[in-house]
Amino acid sequence: VQEQLLASQKLEAIGQLSGGIAHDFNNLLMIVLGNIETAERNARQLAGSANLQRALGHAKRGAQRAAALTSRLLAFSRRQALDPRPINVNNFLNGVQDFLQRTLGERVEVQTVGSAGLWQIEADTNHLESAIINLAINARDAMPDGGKLTVEAVNVSADDDYSRANPELPPGQYVVICVTDTGSGMTAEVLDHAFEPFFTTKEPGQGTGLGLSQVYGFVKQSGGHVKIYSEVGHGTSIKLYFPRHLGAGLAPAAEPDEVLPEGE
Ligand code: ADP
Repeated sequence: VQEQLLASQKLEAIGQLSGGIAHDFNNLLMIVLGNIETAERNARQLAGSANLQRALGHAKRGAQRAAALTSRLLAFSRRQALDPRPINVNNFLNGVQDFLQRTLGERVEVQTVGSAGLWQIEADTNHLESAIINLAINARDAMPDGGKLTVEAVNVSADDDYSRANPELPPGQYVVICVTDTGSGMTAEVLDHAFEPFFTTKEPGQGTGLGLSQVYGFVKQSGGHVKIYSEVGHGTSIKLYFPRHLGAGLAPAAEPDEVLPEGE
């Protein structure tokens, strides 16, 4: 428990730091971009200024890419504007199955598993989709020789005992979306740093190290929590806990599939 508390305090601190840096960096970029755009407009009026325009174009694209990077950092530090709406997780899973399979290619077998009795959650659908895609691409990268990716959602109740041992998950009802692969797994060292922004074990150009930090920030901001279970040589399961959303009588009254801690 102590270790988990320390880990989440560390992530909190990194989040605040990266959020602050991202925010200031973005302001600076806005100044750079604004001036480039002004210069670009003026350069167009000068004859023979194609080189200048090209240079400005490159500079602008660089600044735009940097701006996109900071918005991902902001997602980690929970400052991103989200638009949370009730989500029927079963429909969501059915909706992404095909897309995931096409994105990952035929070497990876994709299976989504939901059920009609799943509770609703409240989250930003676009961000949830990005999170699942991020996790799916990581899974594919961990299975260079192919394998299986399962995205399964279950209803889960955390009781008092479980919450005492896992303070990041208060007692209550959750829909857990588990993204499981049969890939390489993570060493203890990788596990320890996996959520940190810019931590990557991939070749330069292959990974930014922002995928998992983005997922973490989004789920936290949605009132939930993320846990990683991984075993080297066997695979990884990343569990996204979203609090049950009790919307205007829309949620079907279903028993939880699991009552923690038995299910964990
Ligand atoms: P990136 O994918 O750009 O490296 P992430 O934050 O998504 O950034 O992941 C950080 C690191 O965590 C990865 O470089 C990899 O070492 C490890 N990782 C993430 N997902 C998995 C997975 N499903 N299986 C094995 N390792 C993983």
